Amino acid sequence: MSVSTNPYRNLPAVNDILLLPSVVALESRYARDVIVEAIRAELSDVRAALAQGQNGVHTPEAIAANVEKRLSADLQPRLRTVINATGIVLHTNLGRAPIAEEAATAAYEAARGYLNLELDLETGKRSSRQNPIRDWVCRLTGAESATVVNNNAAATVIALRALAQGREVIVSRGQLIEIGGSFRIPEIMAVSGATLREVGTTNITRLSDYEKAITPATAALMQVHTSNYRIAGFTESVSTAELVTLGKQFSLPVIDDIGSGALIDFNRFGFSGEPMARDSISAGADLVLFSGDKLLGGPQAGILAGRKELIQRVEKDPLMRAFRCDKMTLAALEVTLRIYMNEEAALRDIPVLRMLGVLLDELKKRATALAKRLRIIETLASVEVVDDVAYVGGGSLPDQQMKTWVVEVKPRAGSDADFAYRLRVGTPAVMARIRDGKIVFDLRTIFPDQVDALVEAVCHVGRNSA
Ligand SMILES: *Cc1c(COP(=O)(O)O)cnc(C)c1O
Repeated sequence: MSVSTNPYRNLPAVNDILLLPSVVALESRYARDVIVEAIRAELSDVRAALAQGQNGVHTPEAIAANVEKRLSADLQPRLRTVINATGIVLHTNLGRAPIAEEAATAAYEAARGYLNLELDLETGKRSSRQNPIRDWVCRLTGAESATVVNNNAAATVIALRALAQGREVIVSRGQLIEIGGSFRIPEIMAVSGATLREVGTTNITRLSDYEKAITPATAALMQVHTSNYRIAGFTESVSTAELVTLGKQFSLPVIDDIGSGALIDFNRFGFSGEPMARDSISAGADLVLFSGDKLLGGPQAGILAGRKELIQRVEKDPLMRAFRCDKMTLAALEVTLRIYMNEEAALRDIPVLRMLGVLLDELKKRATALAKRLRIIETLASVEVVDDVAYVGGGSLPDQQMKTWVVEVKPRAGSDADFAYRLRVGTPAVMARIRDGKIVFDLRTIFPDQVDALVEAVCHVGRNSA
């Protein structure tokens, strides 16, 4: 009868645990060294707990059960589905635009199989991966040619390199934007090898300011949409058409970075001042740049549309290879653009447009229905339906609010921050707003088919924090 009084000596060895049938079974799912590592980590935690004087059941079976939990938690994908209850339609941290179902299917099919990415099926010869996108962009914007890269930041760099490396580009001081994540026009300009020539002041830039700055070193005139801020009050700026006239006079191309790629008029949603790609082309801009995943509502991409000769120069740039899109993006983008051929279909099938266009009455109805289901949850002290305002996000339309309907809930126990945290780390994760001690769910960005999961998530959090 000599049971050791030293609890460490009763701990099973790694090898003993590895021999348990429940652990052997894990080998069909996890590599052996990953399992060994998890056992060591578990044993080390047990030793630490014992050292602190804690007791517990440390049979091999109990340890094996914890090892299995540990492995399944540790090997969860880090990227997960999030229910966006923030009301921000283009939420950069949540991946910006959710794409159309048909576009997602195209990306899926492209991913899991082969496709004629660089093959002309008619002739059997090699072709450019840019051709399909070029075709649709030209039809939708009236441009002579087009090409696509990974994002609009890349589009800006490659356009400046191809057109202005070693020379000067004139930009208004009112348009030297920072988008966030270190995209600043002066820095992008430096990376591209072009030299920034600033003109005007923050609030006033006249055509004569551009004209006076033109020298033999000038390679282009550039206009940048102030996507994420507005200059209001005593202001003056130059229109695209005026800049184009000046450019023609001096044989200088005009590059127009419009930011969001609006392919339809956003006035229909009550938003003003969002430039459309087609308008910029018809005003005579030589190269128009825009994102695929902002208001266009497609996958992340940077589209360049404009004069054929300039597009050819861009495509010949060695960086094109580094910046080119992959097959999944191209497949999803092509389908997204094709949907725009029919505006009615775009409004219905492109999630960004659908969320911006949903009627307030409909949102109120959805909020009321959600509230009714949440009121049954005992861990909530209050559930209210209220009207509210939200923003488009993604660095678009910064000063323009959108009316919306939300459900506000107040947890009975625990803090609002704790409740929001638990929602965030749940499965599926839920991102909500917090305001005045309440959690706010905005119906605009919650997809109708996510409501069941959302209710379940709130129930679950309530159960665990009560
Ligand atoms: C958003 C934006 C960019 C950057 O576009 P990404 O697609 O995010 O790289 C560049 N210019 C303007 C004006 C923008 O609004």
